Amino acid sequence: TGINFDKYDENIVEVSGLDCPTTIMSFADIDMAHTLTVNIAKAGYSKPTPVQKYSIPIILAGRDLMACAQTGSGKTAAFLVPVVAQMMRDGVTASSFKEQQEPECIITAPTRELVNQIFLEARKFVHGFQLKGEGRVHVKSRVYSKQAIWAASVTQWELEFKLMISLRNVKYLVLDEADRMLDMGFGLEMKKLISFPHMPQKDKRQTLMFSATFPEEVQRDREQREREIALQDFRSGRC
Ligand code: ADP
Ligand code: MG
Repeated sequence: TGINFDKYDENIVEVSGLDCPTTIMSFADIDMAHTLTVNIAKAGYSKPTPVQKYSIPIILAGRDLMACAQTGSGKTAAFLVPVVAQMMRDGVTASSFKEQQEPECIITAPTRELVNQIFLEARKFVHGFQLKGEGRVHVKSRVYSKQAIWAASVTQWELEFKLMISLRNVKYLVLDEADRMLDMGFGLEMKKLISFPHMPQKDKRQTLMFSATFPEEVQRDREQREREIALQDFRSGRC
């Protein structure tokens, strides 16, 4: 791809949050199915990029994550590798893989092209993964255009969405290029998706947000939350 990943090793990565899991130095540090190790090697990934070193163990620890790293730094695998590793470890429930009408992982991205790139990458990582006697994991891509969403009334859009897939089984919700989705006016849709009927509550799913920059309003929310956590800790005598 022409990207010199070695130079990224010098990049300073800032991590904040409570009890941050330690970074991985190599893909071999991940406890994952042999199939995934093979697929990562086949993709030509010999070592993780910085955003992967930090994001992968955080996601594997079951935490929510907001990660910000420059374009071309390997954000796609930063969420796909741990999500696929956990799916392979836990097994995918029959209803979620059969027709893929009740997916366990939903990934959103702002453009058709990006959706397709993520789809192709995801297919590489799940390749050859067999569920015990039940078939393979399916990866599907669907494109909802912004125009279509705006053109439809809220109820029609919800109906369309409801008919196509059910969100009751979602364990991983990934918002890729979250900054661009906001810039393109998808903010309302992102909020609607998160609070969609049957979408599991925050504590029943992992929410993973990736972008190249962090929009001010997201940053403001984060700072607000950190202040609230600090206040709670203070009140409960933890610090
Ligand atoms: P981003 O989403 O951060 O813009 P991508 O996930 O699209 O970046 O990755 C950019 C390119 O780097 C892709 O071609 C991808 O296959 C490649 N890549 C990602 N991670 C690695 C890695 N660990 N080793 C080598 N190439 C990688
Ligand atoms: Mg990307």
